[in-house]
Amino acid sequence: MALYRLIYVSQAVAGISYSDLIDIMQKSEKNNMPVGITGMLSFGDSMFLQVLEGSRRTVSQTYNRILGDKRHVNAELIEFSEIEHRDFGLWSMKAVQIDNHPEIRNIILKYSSSSTFSPISMTGKQCLNFLREIMDLYQNK
Ligand code: FAD
Repeated sequence: MALYRLIYVSQAVAGISYSDLIDIMQKSEKNNMPVGITGMLSFGDSMFLQVLEGSRRTVSQTYNRILGDKRHVNAELIEFSEIEHRDFGLWSMKAVQIDNHPEIRNIILKYSSSSTFSPISMTGKQCLNFLREIMDLYQNK
């Protein structure tokens, strides 16, 4: 079956905290695993950047459900494309908080004009490479 990757960015509503992120991750793991969705959700500087991988139907259904969530607004689709293989296959959904750790800020700076996390101003390729590097960082921890 064809595999798809979807990447979007959105703005967290005021007051979203680390515990909300954990709540979203737990719910996502529970929902995504049975339908074969894998991916990663990064959150920092009031922005979410998420990648979803799976069949076209399940990725579309999951994205549509996420769009209705009141914990974020102004979602913008960055990429929806057919892929040969998964990059984030180990995770039903890994949530990563983009904090001030120098290693994380260096990865942001590598793909952006500053070390502020602003995926809205990054290209699709930059977003994907950023997510891949963050994944490598967390896999090696
Ligand atoms: P329930 O958890 O029972 O939720 C019912 C309704 O309440 C939904 O409309 C939900 O949006 C809303 N809701 C639940 N908790 C809260 C809360 N604390 N504050 C405000 N509204 C709330 N879900 C996935 O399945 N996979 C994902 O990969 C995924 N990624 C997400 C990424 C982001 C940035 C966000 C904000 C949410 C994400 N979610 C994801 C959650 C998704 O939006 C739905 O909340 C969830 O899938 C609904 O699960 P449920 O059908 O079991 O309903």
